[in-house]
Amino acid sequence: MAMINTVLGPISSDELGVTLIHEHLILAYPGWECDALAAPYDREAIATVCVEALEQAKAYGLKTMVDATPIDLNRDVELDRMVSDRLGINVICATGLYMEAMGKPAYLKFRSQLVDTTTEIYETFMKEITQGIEDTGVKAGVIKVATGRGEISDYEERVLRAAARAQKETGVPIITHTEAGTMGPEQADLLISEGADPRRIMIGHIGGNANLQYHTSILDKGVYIAFDRLGIEIMFRDALRKACIIGLIGIGYANRIMLSHDYSPYWLGRSVELPDIAKTLLANWSYSHVFENIIPALKEAGVTDENINMMMVENPRRLFAGE
Ligand SMILES: [Zn+2]
Repeated sequence: MAMINTVLGPISSDELGVTLIHEHLILAYPGWECDALAAPYDREAIATVCVEALEQAKAYGLKTMVDATPIDLNRDVELDRMVSDRLGINVICATGLYMEAMGKPAYLKFRSQLVDTTTEIYETFMKEITQGIEDTGVKAGVIKVATGRGEISDYEERVLRAAARAQKETGVPIITHTEAGTMGPEQADLLISEGADPRRIMIGHIGGNANLQYHTSILDKGVYIAFDRLGIEIMFRDALRKACIIGLIGIGYANRIMLSHDYSPYWLGRSVELPDIAKTLLANWSYSHVFENIIPALKEAGVTDENINMMMVENPRRLFAGE
């Protein structure tokens, strides 16, 4: 049994229950704050939207949500705390940094010319895990790292090495963003080479391709993987993701797979009208799609209740417990 930092304080890994391992409350690409016509940040109103959006998943039994938002994508642990408190589910927030192309690398890239920024990033992660985020008293419960399409940049490599060191010291798991179904094995290798425990690593966004050779090459390193963009069919079709999940379970990997949506109900910036084709391809994207549509489809294909429970309850618990 391991102790886990939630935004309302520590809990034991046995208390996690049904867990969505990679979600968000807000989507905020850096630069939204430079848009003079962006809607003002109203935490109270956003919290209401998030609580409403999560209610259906809670009705399906959701007990814990990991907010995978890294520091540089407008992470707001006060918002996490409000939502957790009002809804009565555990929320685990992240320390960590996003990929170079879409995050905020400028400060650290500048400092890299002068100092050892791998150590500085590690110190940031350690501060947020052991002492808390800013002065909120909220401690990070996961470390989020990310890499770009087809390569790991020097900046991203430093972030991954810092994360591995912090994981090694604290036991806090690492969850990753991969881009377009690339660099999963390389992420695992890099983290493990720096001393991270593979049992506390989850390689994310696996469903960006349907290549079982790619999936098993990651699994064979002893890490977890997550099909954590279910419902985002604008990137890849759920039908193929389901085929991969069913196939991998069929060859014995149910104990290494997690399911989630990478959903956020509120996007910062100006409101934007999506084209009809995008609306169609995102029609199922919500916090409850896994419960409403994916799990029933997996069961219809012969996946047992025991394996569903493994993916939704046991694997998240084991990721945090290091099993
Ligand atoms: Zn995400």
